[in-house]
Amino acid sequence: MVSLRPYLFQRSVEEKKMDFSLAQQLTLKNDSKVVLMILDGLGGIPGGPDGKTELEAASTPNLDTLAREGICGLHQPIGTGITPGSGPAHLAVFGYDPLKYEVGRGVLEALGVNFDLKDGDVAARGNFCTVDSNGFITDRRAGRIPTTKNAELCEILRTVKVPGVELFVEPIKEHRLLLVLRGEGLNGAVEETDPQAAGKKPLEPVALDPAAEKTAKAVKQFIAGAAEVLSSASPANMLTLRGFARKPDWPPLRNVWGVTTAAIAAYPMYKGVAKLVGMDVLDTGTELEDEFDTLVERWNDYDFFYFHVKPTDSAGEDGDYDRKVSIIERVDKQIPRLMKLGPGALIVTGDHSTPSVMKAHSWHPVPAFIWSKICRPDAVQVFGERACVAGALGPRLPAIDLIPLAMANAGRLEKFGA
Ligand code: ZN
Repeated sequence: MVSLRPYLFQRSVEEKKMDFSLAQQLTLKNDSKVVLMILDGLGGIPGGPDGKTELEAASTPNLDTLAREGICGLHQPIGTGITPGSGPAHLAVFGYDPLKYEVGRGVLEALGVNFDLKDGDVAARGNFCTVDSNGFITDRRAGRIPTTKNAELCEILRTVKVPGVELFVEPIKEHRLLLVLRGEGLNGAVEETDPQAAGKKPLEPVALDPAAEKTAKAVKQFIAGAAEVLSSASPANMLTLRGFARKPDWPPLRNVWGVTTAAIAAYPMYKGVAKLVGMDVLDTGTELEDEFDTLVERWNDYDFFYFHVKPTDSAGEDGDYDRKVSIIERVDKQIPRLMKLGPGALIVTGDHSTPSVMKAHSWHPVPAFIWSKICRPDAVQVFGERACVAGALGPRLPAIDLIPLAMANAGRLEKFGA
């Protein structure tokens, strides 16, 4: 990953580190609130009957007004041509370079099931598999057992004990599970045990670093115990583990920018990513209108709100152009409630593009605007992909620049030098 870096952004990792310390030196306290609204998978490509993207086709008078008054553009979460996952894309929009702030697979899985990872925890993704009487894998996914069966087996796995380490086992979907190890001196540098092919035995969980010896030993003991308690189960009579990763220890957003931070998100994965950067996660309902209610109710409690709308991405993934359009329109209808609160700066964007034509995430730059009373408006008149190309933020803004600009627009950064 690191070798990609020079091609993706102009600034080096070291320079980015400096950016955080510079921000920390320059932050000012004031009453101006910042809202970062992420419509997941917002970006699209032409797909409608009249050759428009979902955002272009949606009737969005409120967002159009803000785009007209604000500065517009398109951002790139990771880099040119790179299709991002939602985890790293979110980190980028939060201002954390995802090539530097990497999240291990196990940690992502833990976020996905809303497992409350503590500092020092090591998480891994597991797969139930089928082995023959000699221990050779015959099916790496145990016939994709139903999730209900998975939950029963996880219940059995919870009886496995390893001295000195607390273990947590949670079902994910079908044959997938989460293992979390908690204890002193754990480390994620452990080799995966999935041999990636049937006809082979599961691999040993070897420590890739001397600091991970204790963890590797505990994992080995857990696997031995698991093999024993699963031996009579069929077809899921064994498991493999991969993506061992420790909960990252990053500078929280509140320390970087001197703001109290809250997340309003309905889906576990996004609550989890928000927790990784130290945000408080607010209780909210499942509908996007509920999330706006929460924003109104908690407005006085925080300086910075991350507001997440998931169904735009789900509709894109489902290839449902019309549904994606209608969700964008539902968001637009709520915008006056937000503006009545009087934000100092507002970002509206996506974490990545999910064109419904492609039914998947894509590399296309993501439409974005920053609105404030002191921004310098550009010529963009409506919020849409093609219109935003001509905006002042440019057609390929590194996503990590969005928050610094919003903070400046909220008057939260003082002058550098005399
Ligand atoms: Zn996403």
